[in-house]
Amino acid sequence: MTMTTDIIRYSVDSEGIATLAFDYPGRSMNILNRASLGAFYAAVRRAIADPAAKAVLIASDKDDFIAGADLDMVLALDDKVELRDSTLELHLHLRALETCGKPVAVAINGTALGGGFELCLACHHRVSGDRPRARIGLPEVTLGLLPGGGGTQRLPRLIGVRAALPLLLEGRKLTPVEALNAGLVHEVVAAGNERKAARDWLLGHIDQAVAQPWDIKGYKIPGGPVQSPGGFETFLAGNAMTLAKTAGNYPAPRNILSCVYEGLQTDFDTGCRTEVGYFVATALSPEAKAMIRTLFFHMGKVNALARRPPDVPVRKFACVGVVGAGMMGAGIAFAQAIAGIETVLLDTSMAAAEAGKDYSRRLLDKRVAKGRMGADECDAVLARIRTTTRFADLERCQLVIEAVFEDRAVKAEVTRKIEAALAADALVASNTSTLPIDGLADASMRPERFIGLHFFSPVDKMALVEVIVGQRTSPETLAQAMDYVRAIRKTPIVVNDARGFYTSRVFSTYVREGLIMLAEGVAPALIDNAGRLAGMPVGPLALADELALDLIERVARQTALDLGPAYVRTKAEDVAEIMIHRCGRVGKKGKAGFYDYPESGAKRLWPGLAEHFPVSTFQPEIDEVIRRLMYVQSLETVRCIAEGVIDNGGDADAGALLGWGFPVCRGGPIGQIEQVGVQEFTEHCRTLAAAHGERFAPPALLERMAAAGEVFYDV
Ligand code: NAD
Repeated sequence: MTMTTDIIRYSVDSEGIATLAFDYPGRSMNILNRASLGAFYAAVRRAIADPAAKAVLIASDKDDFIAGADLDMVLALDDKVELRDSTLELHLHLRALETCGKPVAVAINGTALGGGFELCLACHHRVSGDRPRARIGLPEVTLGLLPGGGGTQRLPRLIGVRAALPLLLEGRKLTPVEALNAGLVHEVVAAGNERKAARDWLLGHIDQAVAQPWDIKGYKIPGGPVQSPGGFETFLAGNAMTLAKTAGNYPAPRNILSCVYEGLQTDFDTGCRTEVGYFVATALSPEAKAMIRTLFFHMGKVNALARRPPDVPVRKFACVGVVGAGMMGAGIAFAQAIAGIETVLLDTSMAAAEAGKDYSRRLLDKRVAKGRMGADECDAVLARIRTTTRFADLERCQLVIEAVFEDRAVKAEVTRKIEAALAADALVASNTSTLPIDGLADASMRPERFIGLHFFSPVDKMALVEVIVGQRTSPETLAQAMDYVRAIRKTPIVVNDARGFYTSRVFSTYVREGLIMLAEGVAPALIDNAGRLAGMPVGPLALADELALDLIERVARQTALDLGPAYVRTKAEDVAEIMIHRCGRVGKKGKAGFYDYPESGAKRLWPGLAEHFPVSTFQPEIDEVIRRLMYVQSLETVRCIAEGVIDNGGDADAGALLGWGFPVCRGGPIGQIEQVGVQEFTEHCRTLAAAHGERFAPPALLERMAAAGEVFYDV
């Protein structure tokens, strides 16, 4: 007997095994949303009631299992009562399944994440297929959510609090074998054998009293209860680590801790109801909305190359040259080689080029030592990097990226030499961080094939590349450059040629605001603590030290020269000058900046600061300091959008997260405006402008949007 619904196929075979097979139409993977959950509930009720069904097998008719919840649905949630009721309904059905008296097994033939894995946790037996791309786990926290289908209750009851908390708080996705070792699944079998293994288990358990461990009399939480010395220790450490990592900005990890702490001191059903309460609060939080929107939707669009000019055939890059084997060139060569691209690495001497290649050798050796790469693979990657001093060796390259000194004349000469060696359809890119692409393109004989590829340091860790489009860069060149960035597994955002491009321009406002506050008499500890409490990776003064104050001064001087009378000097430049010329402190590289950098121990604020920048008696509230540091970035981003430097808020937000670690709980500089509300944000900025100056004046675009009640994002 077979009944087919759209999403779940229900059938009972001659041995009494009822199979509930997911097959979400029109998708490569199954997802959980209202429709699929509705179908699942109906199938569960049917299997429980069906006298012919003696055991239940949950499976997937696709070549993969369940990716998790439909994030479109999660993002659109706004009704507290509706969400609570629908979550309770999920709990009810999972609970009914695991207590129905019939054995229930699941054949996990691929990835089971989030709700997909919570469904597995409600089964008595979990079989996973050994598939290289399969991942298992509860990654909800990485999108600002918490597992709302009983995950915070079943997982710790299954493997103990100490083992479960890191999985819940970090959201790590495990391979099937890792999941087996961690106790998340019972068996790992060869791919394709999942259903057979699950059936075998069911056949061996038909008519037996099968129950979850926590439903068996005398059950004890593995590793001990919450109220035990071990439990106290785990929560003490878990709380402290979570607070240190999140500065209290993320409700999800805090609420996960509460679910486990409170829920495991009660019976299972009460624990589940506790989880529902926290789930609703977390899923409706502005932080979760911002994270899902930026990390999933915006980042997804950017990586799918939504801004790539259509109609240009995809270009595959087999051979790419890098000129300048310094810090950046060496990093770019590594990224290419590991992505399988033949790389010609050129510098002025063989020693310099080889030193650049050595950088790859060191990174690869580390991977081999950690067992993440075999020695053969390491050799193959290294063999892809060919060092040279001769420009003629660039002949076969489809693209050459120059990463030589930041000097117009040097770059112009190098561009001419590169082009002389290249085929007609090859591209030339500059990795300049400050020089306008249009000016550099003047040295090119075919400026339509010239483009900026602004990598970030260290290249092997930083996923972002700003693709800088000059006036004369052709759409074909832009499309192909984006193909290249994806080929080396990085994320490209498209930026029009303008001073500081997008990332440097916006993120420098954060540093500058910190320096201005110092000049105004705000306590330096307050400034940097505010930055970190807002969620930025480092405070503005510490960041200025890392960048080096002389670099800040140099960029300011160049900007003043280029802009002439339009240049607006701020107190930040005064601070940099005083630090460099009066105090002889240039930052971390000189071991002396706003901070002291002792040989041993952590950096400390320089006690001499107060002498040069006296601290006022009246200090601002920390919220005010945070607002200045964070809003100034949003305002500059709006200006970038208004001026056409960057196309849209989604690109801007993705770039800010990847480029300078803008806190993801705020979504990004534009996500932050949405979070506050366009009108309220604009209002705040008017107040800030009256108190602190024109840089806070809302740009016309924002004023217009506020007046018209417009928003940046639809959902
Ligand atoms: P670097 O000084 O470490 O390396 C520059 C390399 O270029 C040196 O090895 C040098 O020998 C080589 N070189 C100089 N002239 C050459 C020539 N005529 N032919 C061949 N090789 C030549 O500098 P870097 O930090 O790697 O920066 C390189 C470029 O990348 C600059 O334009 C810089 O603005 C840009 N950039 C730097 C960063 C950063 O964080 N350092 C970030 C993004 C972009």
